[in-house]
Amino acid sequence: MPQKILFSACLAGFKVRYNGSDKPLVNATLQRWQREGRLVVCCPELAAGFSTPRPSAEITPAANGASVLAQQARVMEAGGGDVTDSYLLGAHLALETARRHGCRFALLTDGSPSCGSQFIYDGSFSGQTKPGSGVTAELLRRHGIEVFSDRQLTALIARIEATERS
Ligand code: SF4
Repeated sequence: MPQKILFSACLAGFKVRYNGSDKPLVNATLQRWQREGRLVVCCPELAAGFSTPRPSAEITPAANGASVLAQQARVMEAGGGDVTDSYLLGAHLALETARRHGCRFALLTDGSPSCGSQFIYDGSFSGQTKPGSGVTAELLRRHGIEVFSDRQLTALIARIEATERS
C-alpha cells in the first residue's frame, strides 16, 4: 500500500521559516511522491498561529533533562518570550494531520525546535547545536510515527520501499 509522508512545508519550498526563507529538498523520488499525492505538507509553527517572519526560538533544557512534552523544558524566543504552549499546540496539530492522512512516516527539517529530529540548537542562541529533537518530532515518535530528517532522505526512501514490498 502506498505510504503517505508528513513533510515539512519549508522542505516543499514554502517560505515559512522563522526568517522568511525555505529549505527546498529536490529529489526525483520526492517529486514522484508529490505527483502521487503522498506528501502531506505541514508547518507546525504556522499551524499554531505564528506568522513569517517570526522571532527565532530555541529549546531551553530543563535541569532534570525532562522534555518540552513533559512541560519541563521550555521553548523560548530570542527576546525572552516563552512560546512553549504554542509549540506544543503546533506539535499536536501536526500529529492530528498525520493521523488524518494515515502517515506512518515523517520527513522533517533538522535543527528546528519543532521539526528537528537529529539535532537542535542548545538554547543559548549562540549557534551551538546538540543531539536532540524538536517538539513535533518528539510527539510524532511517541505516537509511533517514524521520523527522518532532511539529511536522511535516502534512508527514508529505502524504509518506505521495504515497507511497500512487504
Ligand atoms: Fe519548516 Fe518545521 Fe520550521 Fe515550519 S516548523 S518552518 S515546517 S522547520
